[in-house]
Amino acid sequence: MDYIMKQLLKDYEIKRNQAILDAENRKRDLLSVNPKLSEIDNELAKLSIETTQAVLNSKDTLEHKKLLDDLKKKSNSLMKEKNKFIKELVKDSNYLKPHFECKTCKDTGYAQKDGNLEICACLKQKIFDSYYNKSNARKLEEREFFKIQFQSFFQRKKCGSLQIQAFSKRKYGNY
Ligand SMILES: [Zn+2]
Repeated sequence: MDYIMKQLLKDYEIKRNQAILDAENRKRDLLSVNPKLSEIDNELAKLSIETTQAVLNSKDTLEHKKLLDDLKKKSNSLMKEKNKFIKELVKDSNYLKPHFECKTCKDTGYAQKDGNLEICACLKQKIFDSYYNKSNARKLEEREFFKIQFQSFFQRKKCGSLQIQAFSKRKYGNY
Protein backbone atom coordinates (compact mmCIF):
# COMPACT_ATOMS: atom_id res chain seq x y z
CA MET A 1 0.00 0.00 0.00
CA ASP A 2 1.36 3.36 -0.85
CA TYR A 3 2.54 5.76 1.84
CA ILE A 4 -0.22 8.36 1.37
CA MET A 5 -2.96 5.72 1.65
CA LYS A 6 -1.36 4.24 4.78
CA GLN A 7 -1.12 7.67 6.37
CA LEU A 8 -4.71 8.55 5.47
CA LEU A 9 -6.07 5.29 6.91
CA LYS A 10 -4.07 5.91 10.08
CA ASP A 11 -5.63 9.41 10.34
CA TYR A 12 -9.08 7.86 9.82
CA GLU A 13 -8.48 5.35 12.60
CA ILE A 14 -7.40 8.09 15.01
CA LYS A 15 -10.39 10.26 14.05
CA ARG A 16 -12.82 7.33 14.42
CA ASN A 17 -11.43 6.21 17.78
CA GLN A 18 -11.61 9.78 19.06
CA ALA A 19 -15.30 10.08 18.05
CA ILE A 20 -16.08 6.80 19.87
CA LEU A 21 -14.13 7.90 22.95
CA ASP A 22 -15.93 11.27 23.01
CA ALA A 23 -19.30 9.48 22.85
CA GLU A 24 -18.29 7.19 25.73
CA ASN A 25 -17.24 10.21 27.77
CA ARG A 26 -20.56 11.95 27.09
CA LYS A 27 -22.37 8.81 28.18
CA ARG A 28 -20.25 8.47 31.33
CA ASP A 29 -20.95 12.10 32.24
CA LEU A 30 -24.65 11.59 31.75
CA LEU A 31 -24.70 8.41 33.86
CA SER A 32 -22.79 10.14 36.63
CA VAL A 33 -25.37 12.92 36.93
CA ASN A 34 -28.28 10.50 36.73
CA PRO A 35 -27.97 7.45 39.04
CA LYS A 36 -31.27 6.01 37.79
CA LEU A 37 -29.84 5.82 34.29
CA SER A 38 -26.76 4.09 35.63
CA GLU A 39 -29.01 1.53 37.40
CA ILE A 40 -30.87 0.81 34.17
CA ASP A 41 -27.57 0.39 32.34
CA ASN A 42 -26.36 -2.14 34.94
CA GLU A 43 -29.67 -4.02 34.69
CA LEU A 44 -29.33 -4.12 30.91
CA ALA A 45 -25.78 -5.46 31.17
CA LYS A 46 -27.00 -8.22 33.55
CA LEU A 47 -29.87 -9.09 31.22
CA SER A 48 -27.47 -9.28 28.30
CA ILE A 49 -25.31 -11.83 30.16
CA GLU A 50 -28.41 -13.83 31.18
CA THR A 51 -29.65 -13.83 27.58
CA THR A 52 -26.28 -14.99 26.24
CA GLN A 53 -26.19 -17.82 28.80
CA ALA A 54 -29.77 -18.80 27.96
CA VAL A 55 -28.96 -18.87 24.24
CA LEU A 56 -25.82 -20.94 24.85
CA ASN A 57 -27.77 -23.47 26.96
CA SER A 58 -30.52 -23.55 24.41
CA LYS A 59 -33.14 -26.26 24.97
CA ASP A 60 -36.03 -26.97 22.75
CA THR A 61 -38.63 -26.63 25.50
CA LEU A 62 -41.54 -24.29 26.04
CA GLU A 63 -40.07 -23.21 29.36
CA HIS A 64 -36.81 -22.17 27.71
CA LYS A 65 -38.67 -20.30 25.00
CA LYS A 66 -40.65 -18.45 27.67
CA LEU A 67 -37.41 -17.57 29.50
CA LEU A 68 -35.92 -16.05 26.33
CA ASP A 69 -39.15 -14.15 25.64
CA ASP A 70 -39.19 -12.78 29.20
CA LEU A 71 -35.57 -11.65 28.96
CA LYS A 72 -36.30 -9.95 25.64
CA LYS A 73 -39.38 -8.21 27.05
CA LYS A 74 -37.48 -7.02 30.15
CA SER A 75 -34.62 -5.76 27.99
CA ASN A 76 -36.98 -3.91 25.63
CA SER A 77 -38.87 -2.23 28.46
CA LEU A 78 -35.60 -1.16 30.13
CA MET A 79 -34.32 0.19 26.81
CA LYS A 80 -37.54 2.21 26.45
CA GLU A 81 -37.14 3.55 29.98
CA LYS A 82 -33.51 4.40 29.32
CA ASN A 83 -34.33 6.21 26.07
CA LYS A 84 -37.07 8.15 27.87
CA PHE A 85 -34.59 9.29 30.50
CA ILE A 86 -32.02 10.25 27.89
CA LYS A 87 -34.62 12.23 25.95
CA GLU A 88 -35.49 14.16 29.10
CA LEU A 89 -31.84 14.94 29.76
CA VAL A 90 -30.66 15.70 26.25
CA LYS A 91 -32.71 17.11 23.43
CA ASP A 92 -30.56 15.71 20.65
CA SER A 93 -31.13 11.97 20.20
CA ASN A 94 -27.69 11.66 18.56
CA TYR A 95 -25.97 13.14 21.57
CA LEU A 96 -24.71 9.80 22.89
CA LYS A 97 -23.77 8.36 19.51
CA PRO A 98 -20.27 8.87 18.11
CA HIS A 99 -20.16 11.97 15.92
CA PHE A 100 -18.32 10.72 12.86
CA GLU A 101 -17.08 13.22 10.28
CA CYS A 102 -18.46 11.06 7.47
CA LYS A 103 -21.87 9.54 8.05
CA THR A 104 -21.53 7.17 5.08
CA CYS A 105 -18.41 5.27 6.14
CA LYS A 106 -18.41 6.23 9.83
CA ASP A 107 -14.80 7.34 9.35
CA THR A 108 -13.57 3.91 8.29
CA GLY A 109 -12.84 5.11 4.74
CA TYR A 110 -14.85 2.22 3.29
CA ALA A 111 -18.57 1.92 2.62
CA GLN A 112 -20.94 -0.71 1.27
CA LYS A 113 -22.11 -0.04 -2.26
CA ASP A 114 -24.29 -2.54 -4.14
CA GLY A 115 -23.18 -5.23 -1.70
CA ASN A 116 -19.47 -4.50 -2.18
CA LEU A 117 -17.08 -2.76 0.15
CA GLU A 118 -15.72 0.28 -1.67
CA ILE A 119 -13.49 3.25 -0.90
CA CYS A 120 -15.80 5.98 0.39
CA ALA A 121 -16.13 9.26 -1.51
CA CYS A 122 -14.60 11.13 1.44
CA LEU A 123 -11.41 9.03 1.29
CA LYS A 124 -11.25 9.34 -2.50
CA GLN A 125 -11.35 13.11 -2.07
CA LYS A 126 -8.60 12.99 0.57
CA ILE A 127 -6.40 10.81 -1.68
CA PHE A 128 -6.92 13.28 -4.52
CA ASP A 129 -6.14 16.27 -2.26
CA SER A 130 -2.98 14.62 -0.94
CA TYR A 131 -1.65 13.78 -4.40
CA TYR A 132 -2.62 17.19 -5.71
CA ASN A 133 -0.96 18.99 -2.81
CA LYS A 134 2.09 16.77 -3.07
CA SER A 135 2.51 17.41 -6.78
CA ASN A 136 1.85 21.10 -6.21
CA ALA A 137 4.45 21.15 -3.46
CA ARG A 138 6.88 19.42 -5.80
CA LYS A 139 6.18 21.96 -8.53
CA LEU A 140 6.73 24.74 -6.02
CA GLU A 141 9.99 23.18 -4.83
CA GLU A 142 11.16 22.82 -8.42
CA ARG A 143 10.25 26.42 -9.14
CA GLU A 144 12.07 27.63 -6.02
CA PHE A 145 15.12 25.54 -6.89
CA PHE A 146 15.15 26.93 -10.41
CA LYS A 147 14.76 30.47 -9.06
CA ILE A 148 17.73 30.04 -6.74
CA GLN A 149 19.84 28.51 -9.50
CA PHE A 150 18.81 31.28 -11.86
CA GLN A 151 19.64 34.02 -9.33
CA SER A 152 22.99 32.55 -8.34
CA PHE A 153 23.91 32.14 -12.00
CA PHE A 154 23.27 35.84 -12.62
CA GLN A 155 24.98 36.86 -9.41
CA ARG A 156 28.05 34.94 -10.53
CA LYS A 157 27.82 36.57 -13.94
CA LYS A 158 27.39 40.00 -12.39
CA CYS A 159 30.22 39.35 -10.00
CA GLY A 160 32.34 38.12 -12.87
CA SER A 161 31.73 41.22 -14.92
CA LEU A 162 32.43 43.48 -11.93
CA GLN A 163 35.71 41.68 -11.38
CA ILE A 164 36.55 42.14 -15.03
CA GLN A 165 35.75 45.86 -14.77
CA ALA A 166 37.90 46.21 -11.63
CA PHE A 167 40.70 44.30 -13.27
CA SER A 168 40.61 46.44 -16.40
CA LYS A 169 40.52 49.64 -14.32
CA ARG A 170 43.60 48.48 -12.41
CA LYS A 171 45.41 47.42 -15.53
CA TYR A 172 44.55 50.17 -17.91
CA GLY A 173 43.53 53.05 -15.62
CA ASN A 174 40.34 55.01 -15.85
CA TYR A 175 40.26 56.65 -19.29
ZN1 LIG B 1 -16.64 8.44 4.18
